[in-house]
Amino acid sequence: MKKIAIVTSGGDAPGMNAAIRALTRLATWSGVEVIGFQRGWEGLLHNNCMKLDSRAVSGILHLGGTILRTSRCEEFKRRAGLEKAAETLAKNDVDGLVVIGGDGSARGANALSRYTDTLMIALPASIDNDVYGTEETIGFDTAVNTALVEINKIRDTAVSHERTFIVEVMGRKRGFLALEVGLTAGAEIILVPEVKYDREKIYETLRKNAAKGKRSSIIVVAEGIGETRKLAEDIERNVNTEVRVSILGYVQRGGSPTARSRLLANLFAEKAIDLLLDGIGNRLVGIQRGEITSISLEEACENQKPLNIDMLSLAERLAT
Ligand code: ADP
Repeated sequence: MKKIAIVTSGGDAPGMNAAIRALTRLATWSGVEVIGFQRGWEGLLHNNCMKLDSRAVSGILHLGGTILRTSRCEEFKRRAGLEKAAETLAKNDVDGLVVIGGDGSARGANALSRYTDTLMIALPASIDNDVYGTEETIGFDTAVNTALVEINKIRDTAVSHERTFIVEVMGRKRGFLALEVGLTAGAEIILVPEVKYDREKIYETLRKNAAKGKRSSIIVVAEGIGETRKLAEDIERNVNTEVRVSILGYVQRGGSPTARSRLLANLFAEKAIDLLLDGIGNRLVGIQRGEITSISLEEACENQKPLNIDMLSLAERLAT
């Protein structure tokens, strides 16, 4: 292993920079050269890369986003794009490629592995936490905490005005972020795409809460539900409460990574470099039951990470 490359791809997540820093320094420490491809997979299509060394990655540990930039790249999904990317890897004598990103980026790495001998490692980084093979992704904890800070503020207004607030959080098609944010924010109701919900039950819960003297409620909704505003209208029509909608949006993606997100970035990076130094590739690094592990990229891409539905029932019992 003489040279590795790093690329960040898909949605940015806090802690990507911590991962770039750790990968660069650990590789350099072992005498391995490092380059970074810029703007996600696009960088591999256009041979857009920069040399990385320990100094190049100083001062970035605490920064959100990614110094390598990122993108979503349609061309990369096609055979011609993958062949071009493989050529770029060969041209630059890259022995190992570490892709930092979400499940789509891991799929990209898996697809590219069929066209090149360069060893691929995926480091899961995503605020959605929807990557199979790891209980937690880099950046998830930061996003949960960012959303919590916002909901704490919203709670002040909800209580003061005795209103119902629907807070929409990110998560794309999955409900990991909504579930953890909802539970830890003490939301009265949590809606995730994985579980069918019954509007009548929502109305009933809000009416019961009002009868108990609970005059404000927070409903945390995953964006994947896709009907936040309609839901607000329906609740106002059916329950005697004023409803306001707050879509948290992109604030959840940015910001300085929490200690937890930085820790995962460092531990995942260490595992990635160890695997590459052992000549092992086509793996996705993760954390399972507190241990840093890896599974094959194939397995990661073939499976869907299950949501811990029990947490929903826990949240329900806690919100009484
Ligand atoms: P994330 O990595 O955050 O989940 P995306 O799902 O947008 O973000 O994936 C990032 C990029 O990975 C895509 O824009 C595309 O270039 C690449 N990608 C995703 N799925 C595939 C696939 N099946 N084959 C090849 N490339 C893919």
